[in-house]
Amino acid sequence: MHDAQLVDPFGRRITYLRLSVTDRCDFRCTYCMGEDMVFAPREQILSLEELYAVADAFIGLGVRRIRITGGEPLVRKNLLGLLGRLGARPELEDLAITTNGSQLAELAPQLRAAGVRRLNISLDSLKRERFAAFTRRDRLDRVLAGIEAARAAGFRRIKLNSVVQLGRNDDEVLDLLEFAMARGLDISFIEEMPLGSISSHQRRQTFCSSDAVRQRIEARHALVRSSQRTGGPSRYWQVVGTETQVGFISPHSHNFCGDCNRVRVTAEGKLVLCLGHDHALDLKSLLRSHPGDSQRLRDALQGALQLKPERHHFQSDEQVQVLRFMNMTGG
Ligand code: SAM
Ligand code: SF4
Repeated sequence: MHDAQLVDPFGRRITYLRLSVTDRCDFRCTYCMGEDMVFAPREQILSLEELYAVADAFIGLGVRRIRITGGEPLVRKNLLGLLGRLGARPELEDLAITTNGSQLAELAPQLRAAGVRRLNISLDSLKRERFAAFTRRDRLDRVLAGIEAARAAGFRRIKLNSVVQLGRNDDEVLDLLEFAMARGLDISFIEEMPLGSISSHQRRQTFCSSDAVRQRIEARHALVRSSQRTGGPSRYWQVVGTETQVGFISPHSHNFCGDCNRVRVTAEGKLVLCLGHDHALDLKSLLRSHPGDSQRLRDALQGALQLKPERHHFQSDEQVQVLRFMNMTGG
């Protein structure tokens, strides 16, 4: 056990890592990537051993929660081996995955056996044609089967993630919430973020604020503020009389930056200190020039943390501010 910790110049202690294990995906969600997305060459992506070395260094520096993301993490070959190693680390309080759900019908029991504690599953529409328009893939049935498989495998506090767009699915907010309530799931409604240049829509025209979504919900269901805080851009409410928590993820608001407890590592091994900024430290070169040198890796992480910006500067009226796509950074 190390006493070393990751603390930035603003006194924020980093305890949460989002680790992207691939930039590839079997979907092509319009807000996330183009149909003709070009992925990184395989040799540019961290190996499973390198991913473990990164996670191990962060755990040694006090990280207690890891979320595995992508791209679609469950399309990464042999991911279960990595998950099993992380799941066996007693220091970790939480090992979670964010997934589009397409592989869960087969993999849910194995994920649970590997030590994954929680799943976030993306679901933007319950209507087959709309789902296909959002993801450019006709796979709603598979995702719904995946959600059922995750429940049957015994996952608790499964959370759905829905990006809400005006004129595209904002009229489904109550249906999605009631789908979650009927199954004892949580759900977060997400404002679209200006990450990556996309051609399918003008983000300005489809932007739907968390406040508008909450008003729509409160017209039918009573909500009370939940004390749950995650150190990220989510605020949670409880649907009165149910188990369901509703999150509102508003990346445009600055007010979460003050208690930000997280960093991200991309599938290419770039340490991203803030989702709203482009600077990143290249961990891959370090891992490949000094394989097995865990002290050097920890020193580099502690040094890099001194560059964590105080806050992001997203504005809802600007098109693209950060050129990275979400599938590269991990949501
Ligand atoms: N493929 C997995 C999935 O879809 O859940 C994990 C990666 S995905 C990048 C993580 C989350 O980011 C998803 O819930 C997705 O809806 C969300 N996301 C992707 N692009 C986004 C954007 N431009 N703005 C807001 N959320 C976005
Ligand atoms: Fe794939 Fe997730 Fe991006 Fe959709 S949001 S294209 S499922 S990485």
